[in-house]
Amino acid sequence: MSEESNSAGSPSANRHFIRQIIDADVASGRVKKVVTRFPPEPNGYLHIGHAKAICLDFGMAKEYGGECHLRMDDTNPTREDVEYVDSIKQDVHWLGFDWGDGYFHASDYFDKIYEYAVKLIKLGKAYVCHLTADEWKEYRGVPEVPGKPSPYRDRSVEENLELFAKMTRGEFDEGAAVLRAKVDMASPNMHMRDPVIYRVRKVSHHNTGDKWCVYPMYDFAHPLEDAIEGVTHSICTLEFEVHRPFYDWVVETLNPPVKPHQFEFARLNLTYTVMSKRRLLELVQEKRVSGWDDPRMPTICGLRRRGYTPESIRNFCEIIGVTKYNSLTDVALLEHVVRDDLNKTSPRAMAVFDPVKLIVDNYPEGQTEELPAVNNPEDPAAGTRMVPFSREIFIERDDFMEDAPKKFFRLTPGREVRLRWAYVVKCVGCEKDAAGNIVAVHCTYDPETRGGNTPDGRKIKSTIHWVSAAHAKRAEVRLYDRLFTKEDPSDVPEGADWRDNLNPDSLKIVTALVEPSLADAAAGARFQFERVGYFCADPDSKPGAPVFNRTVTLKDLFKLK
Ligand code: ATP
Ligand code: MG
Repeated sequence: MSEESNSAGSPSANRHFIRQIIDADVASGRVKKVVTRFPPEPNGYLHIGHAKAICLDFGMAKEYGGECHLRMDDTNPTREDVEYVDSIKQDVHWLGFDWGDGYFHASDYFDKIYEYAVKLIKLGKAYVCHLTADEWKEYRGVPEVPGKPSPYRDRSVEENLELFAKMTRGEFDEGAAVLRAKVDMASPNMHMRDPVIYRVRKVSHHNTGDKWCVYPMYDFAHPLEDAIEGVTHSICTLEFEVHRPFYDWVVETLNPPVKPHQFEFARLNLTYTVMSKRRLLELVQEKRVSGWDDPRMPTICGLRRRGYTPESIRNFCEIIGVTKYNSLTDVALLEHVVRDDLNKTSPRAMAVFDPVKLIVDNYPEGQTEELPAVNNPEDPAAGTRMVPFSREIFIERDDFMEDAPKKFFRLTPGREVRLRWAYVVKCVGCEKDAAGNIVAVHCTYDPETRGGNTPDGRKIKSTIHWVSAAHAKRAEVRLYDRLFTKEDPSDVPEGADWRDNLNPDSLKIVTALVEPSLADAAAGARFQFERVGYFCADPDSKPGAPVFNRTVTLKDLFKLK
């Protein structure tokens, strides 16, 4: 797939609260250089929600002349999937962002995080605890009722150091001992009730191998990773707001040289879309879609295959803004933004989806002429291409009506229409088969109207698209619709399943007749098929056998049945 060059991160008029915070931090001198990070867990492909976070993390760094790190969050010792890591890098680049030298793994810091844990013990702020899962629940309490201190809470520093060393040597089974921060068992915030910061996991890690059998918990590791990297603004989604007091506690208690701050914003939710990685994985595994890059998926690679441009995704993220309130964004806005972008940038072409033959009775048999067609009326620099015209062409069946009402301005006996970039033709009749189906429309053309102009100034109400019968190529076209039929696919009655809301008609495959210039369209090439919609050549295309994905329909125009 073609990589595009991008220049992302243009300043904007939308002074959302994150911009305001950074403005103030820079003005006060708290921050000299803005450093952010995007910390995906490499357990799936990135989706449009991640794009929002990426545009914010990388976008702010770019806007303020700072840097944004790409940090694989691999604190969980699962096997790293190279496929996911590669896709994440590719998608961030495709969106127009770059991490420079700032590519890291959370596991790069296991040694340092471990030292910080030891420091915490020495400060008397962490202890090894052996409560069982059941006891844990009882001691922890509920938000309205303070918890009880663990019987292991007041061990000496020496004893804790020795027990943590034992944990580290693998002398405790998983679950038999954990290291807990000593914070506040009475806090109404459950995350402050002496959270676990290290646990025993006797599994190897893709990066550190069998070096460790204790691993830090996310809440302890994340502020330290940020501190180690010199992150100034650690931007995350709202569900981490309740974790912030512990984030701050870790930073204050351990007092690293650089003190990061966490800021939360509302995640993106889109209508007719599921965004959880778990569900997206299920769609892939259950073969309800063709893969992570199925053009119906909200993944970045799916949107790319569908024909979305990086610019349109960035514009979308800018338009939706950044707030602290959870909301549901209409997917029609995303479609509107891509339509707007493609209108400006994509060359036009002609493709007929439901063809009926049109014979120009007075056009010389066997003659072909090449007519110049404007590639993009919105972009003079896009130039023109030549399209062949001949006596027999195909038009959309819908563009002809034998007995038309007065308001029908396309082809009907006696009426004139303009063939896009070609001639004005007048309908003189049609042919039908025994069953009464129309098999051909007959017209005469006015040779004075080459290019579609009328030298006598007469008005032609309609312009229709067409392809020359002898020159047209067949193309497979995949007509995509929304993957779900319900605005909120997760909203299901008792006993039902979110999958019940899958749209059975989300993909229709048809054959279209396209102008010959499209026969060898390169994968990723985007077009507006005039009067139909925006389409993108799929990687499944072969020379002479193009495959197109419908990115989005055109507003209010020709409607496919
Ligand atoms: P999931 O819950 O679906 O597994 P996640 O949030 O755990 O997703 P991560 O890989 O941890 O996925 O996400 C990396 C970053 O992207 C995090 O900072 C997270 O807050 C952000 N992010 C994830 N989903 C969204 C979303 N829908 N809108 C905005 N940001 C998001
Ligand atoms: Mg996560």
